[in-house]
Amino acid sequence: MQIYLDNAATTKVSTTALQAMLPYFEEQYGNPSSLYSFGQQANEALTDARERIARHLHCDPQEITFTSGGSESDNQAILSAARIGERKGKRHIISTAFEHHAVLHTLARLEKAGFEVTLLDVHEDGVIRPEQVAQSIRPDTCLVTVMFANNEIGTIQPISEIGQICREAGVLFHTDAVQAVGHLPVDVQEQKIDLLSLSAHKFHGPKGIGALYARKGVPLTTLIEGGAQERGRRAGTENVPAIMGMAAALDEACETMQATGEKLTALRDRLIEGLSRIPHCVLNGDAHARLPGNVSFCFEGIEGESLLLLLDDKGICASSGSACTSGSLDPSHVLLAIGRPHEIAHGSLRLTLSGETTQQDVDYTISAVAEVVDYLRGISPVWRNLQTGKLQYVTQ
Ligand SMILES: *Cc1c(COP(=O)(O)O)cnc(C)c1O
Repeated sequence: MQIYLDNAATTKVSTTALQAMLPYFEEQYGNPSSLYSFGQQANEALTDARERIARHLHCDPQEITFTSGGSESDNQAILSAARIGERKGKRHIISTAFEHHAVLHTLARLEKAGFEVTLLDVHEDGVIRPEQVAQSIRPDTCLVTVMFANNEIGTIQPISEIGQICREAGVLFHTDAVQAVGHLPVDVQEQKIDLLSLSAHKFHGPKGIGALYARKGVPLTTLIEGGAQERGRRAGTENVPAIMGMAAALDEACETMQATGEKLTALRDRLIEGLSRIPHCVLNGDAHARLPGNVSFCFEGIEGESLLLLLDDKGICASSGSACTSGSLDPSHVLLAIGRPHEIAHGSLRLTLSGETTQQDVDYTISAVAEVVDYLRGISPVWRNLQTGKLQYVTQ
């Protein structure tokens, strides 16, 4: 038996997406840049995929650039905005302390190149306040980049309000919407978004393919030099099968968004309620302003890694935070950003559901986690010190 509860790390490719890809490996394998009709058929498929993706974001197909995924889109969006700012003498960027490393590390690189970066503090509920953005904008601010929904604690940010503030101030607004696209309604016009990153493998499409939306009039700097693909914004022969898989996955995710969202919200709340009965734990992030499939907890007196290994023995695939930080012993920067002390940030568990998750999966997971936490506390010196009063509990 296997229960896959790590859908924020990656998702299974849906049958629809896989079926949409197959013909472009076996039959329609032409190069879209070739002039003969066999190549042009692949080019028409690309045009069709671009139109469908644009429709879901409420933008023009010309505003979509295909990339290798969320990380590349984040890099290109931020470096492009920085280049635009630099030309006007504007070298200040606003972001938040709990962004994905694709954003944070790109910003760190820009800091070394002379940019100034303001990272907004995150409230304990995991939600940025629009006023924080408004108060940080300066005459030399060229970019605000705030994620749509957090990948570890699932909290959803006030994107429309931030978009409005940036538009009025004449500052570019980028959002890493990798966790949101296909899961939450996104409308780049209504939400006044200038740049948006998305990645197919987070909504049941294939890995290694994504897109960057850039509003008309926002020139992109290419990261990869070469041919004139993507109108000079991203060289390299297009990954036609993956692009077709991404378009099909997004069509399907958007068609079923409402129903899946309702189902997942009910399962998520059942899981949260069940895990909350374990003594001395805390839910990370607001209980309501969160992705329908995200559950994140910290348990006192245990190590997240041990928890994951024992859950794996019970057939449960879970995460203790970002896949990018696992393997290092530092606690998650996201949990530290919402003010969790080191000692409890270490005992974190993230469970992320998909449309295939059942109530039985949830109920089994609740009892498995309760059992494993109890076992680990039984052998934990930290837990003993908490119980004898040598250490103070952080949670109730
Ligand atoms: C997964 C993820 C990324 C990286 O996307 P890739 O396609 O894996 O490069 C970026 N940002 C967020 C919020 C993510 O969840």
